Amino acid sequence: MSIIKLHDKYFKTYISEKKITEAIEQLVKQVYEDCKDENPLFIGILNGSFMFVADFVRKYTGNCEVSFVKLSSYEGTNSTGNIKELVGLNENLEGRTVVILEDIIDTGNTLQEIYKIFRNKKVKQLKIATLFFKPDVFKKDLPVDYIGISIPNKFIVGYGLDYNGIGRNLSDIYQLTANPKLKNIVLFGPPGVGKGTQAKLLKEKYNLVHISTGDVFRHHIKNKTKLGKLAQWYMDKGNLVPDEVTIKMLKAEVEKNIGSNGFIFDGFPRTELQARALDKFLAEKGEIVNGMVALEVPENILVERLLERGKTSGRPDDQDEAKIRNRFNEYSTKTEILKDYYQAQNKYFGINGVGTIHEITLRLSKIIDNL
Ligand code: AMP
Repeated sequence: MSIIKLHDKYFKTYISEKKITEAIEQLVKQVYEDCKDENPLFIGILNGSFMFVADFVRKYTGNCEVSFVKLSSYEGTNSTGNIKELVGLNENLEGRTVVILEDIIDTGNTLQEIYKIFRNKKVKQLKIATLFFKPDVFKKDLPVDYIGISIPNKFIVGYGLDYNGIGRNLSDIYQLTANPKLKNIVLFGPPGVGKGTQAKLLKEKYNLVHISTGDVFRHHIKNKTKLGKLAQWYMDKGNLVPDEVTIKMLKAEVEKNIGSNGFIFDGFPRTELQARALDKFLAEKGEIVNGMVALEVPENILVERLLERGKTSGRPDDQDEAKIRNRFNEYSTKTEILKDYYQAQNKYFGINGVGTIHEITLRLSKIIDNL
């Protein structure tokens, strides 16, 4: 499960690529059964059907021809009912078996228009195949010969279908969902960069819950819990605690505070698997990561800082340069790639982490205010 934002609205995964593929295979089978002795002309209705047509004809093993027409009746999330234009259709259709390939049929307005256009074309037969069908809103007394997946009357996007122009390139189908309520910030950066210090200040300023996985592990170690004993073994070496353990622990922390205004995640996610788990887990609650705010500071400054901190923090992993170097190694091999992960979702915001505490809080706030 995942939640994405398109323009001003939020959408959650609804029908997976796999389910779509299965539905298309079924459609191909049925159409082939009826048309195997013919050379059918498949006509896709643009724009929405381009992906469906491509996948459909790729699986169709018999002889066939492919063409497209354009008939658009959508504006925003509502069918406006007025058909605007028809482009294409230069073939002579007399005596042909024509199969219309539609991405979605809901009110049936487009379908009606298609039937009207084809009435005078002297085709041998006209069949309609649609990938998605909304039985609750379909009001016309017109045959739909092949139906992939019937869905309730919800606005969907992806797999060729758009919301005000965007979203066609998504491989899954998404449906509208309520706006997320929480503000969730991932505070990011290498060890010693000042995440903990800034998180405490931001937590007050934005009334968020601060979850530091390092602090939670240290709390468990102090209290000699089972989790603490396990985590200590890794932390002492400057290694990451295994994902499975960390993710479970993080979820428990979020569950404890789900009624809050949102979270500052500090030290989590630290691997791509953790990032994916966080997205999935938040999506199940109708929530998202609003952004990753990263503090950027050169490594040599950080090693100095950590050794300095080690004199007072009491943290064994701050006192030994080899352990510190290993933490940086863990960071550069497993964690740094998360920059790409969030950048791909336009959620990465890097800031200069060198300066006074106050200066850096201001830089962070500027970004968080706009998330
Ligand atoms: P920190 O206080 O954030 O520097 O974390 C201290 C140590 O706790 C790290 O070096 C890891 O051993 C462990 N740790 C904290 N967060 C995570 C995480 N998200 N995944 C795995 N290990 C973690």
